Amino acid sequence: MPEISLRRAAAVLLLVLALALASCGGGGGGGDSGFTKADYQFLYTYNAVHLSGHTIRWASVPIGVSAGAFADARTAFNRWTSASGGAVSFNFGGSNIPVSWSSSTSWCGLTTISWSSAGRIVSARISIARSQSGCSGGVADTLAHEAGHAIGFLGHDASGLMNPFGGEPISDQEAKFMKLLYSLAPGTDITGELGKSRSSSGTYDKSGSRIHTMTISRSK
Ligand SMILES: [Zn+2]
Repeated sequence: MPEISLRRAAAVLLLVLALALASCGGGGGGGDSGFTKADYQFLYTYNAVHLSGHTIRWASVPIGVSAGAFADARTAFNRWTSASGGAVSFNFGGSNIPVSWSSSTSWCGLTTISWSSAGRIVSARISIARSQSGCSGGVADTLAHEAGHAIGFLGHDASGLMNPFGGEPISDQEAKFMKLLYSLAPGTDITGELGKSRSSSGTYDKSGSRIHTMTISRSK
């Protein structure tokens, strides 16, 4: 008799262990990403709308940045690394995103970005005006703002760093935008996460045979 109850106790113990392991697996598996429909909608509005609901991003991180002429570049770009919880990161010896000075007086900064119809950013170059008069936050904020465009924020929102005039910190919504964008593969169809189907521009194709280009500037 004592032998049977010992076996029973061992069986119960195993069951408890198995349940504990199962609940650990469920909790740590990351089935729930923590992103809301509103987060996907924001990502759609400032990114995926340009490729019929598919994400547009650099295919791999860290993203190379060539900005040797800018003492503030590392700090400015790394604001996006912090905001995204490390989802996006940069290598300051690389050359994906060249940054150069410009003598323009009509804008603070300007980014020209191209992506393939498969959702991969293929080039992005940033120009920073030498004259930052009228540009709140100066070179440091203009760099961070243009960096946002160069990694996939395709437009301007009403508040936060990506408002057209800059001068504000990265908003929670912008931070989540970048975290979500760089947690999804390039060309991910997010239309299923939206409330309803939307009209949009650009046609996704897996081969990436077409290239789309956009130029966005930070106004004075
Ligand atoms: Zn801008």
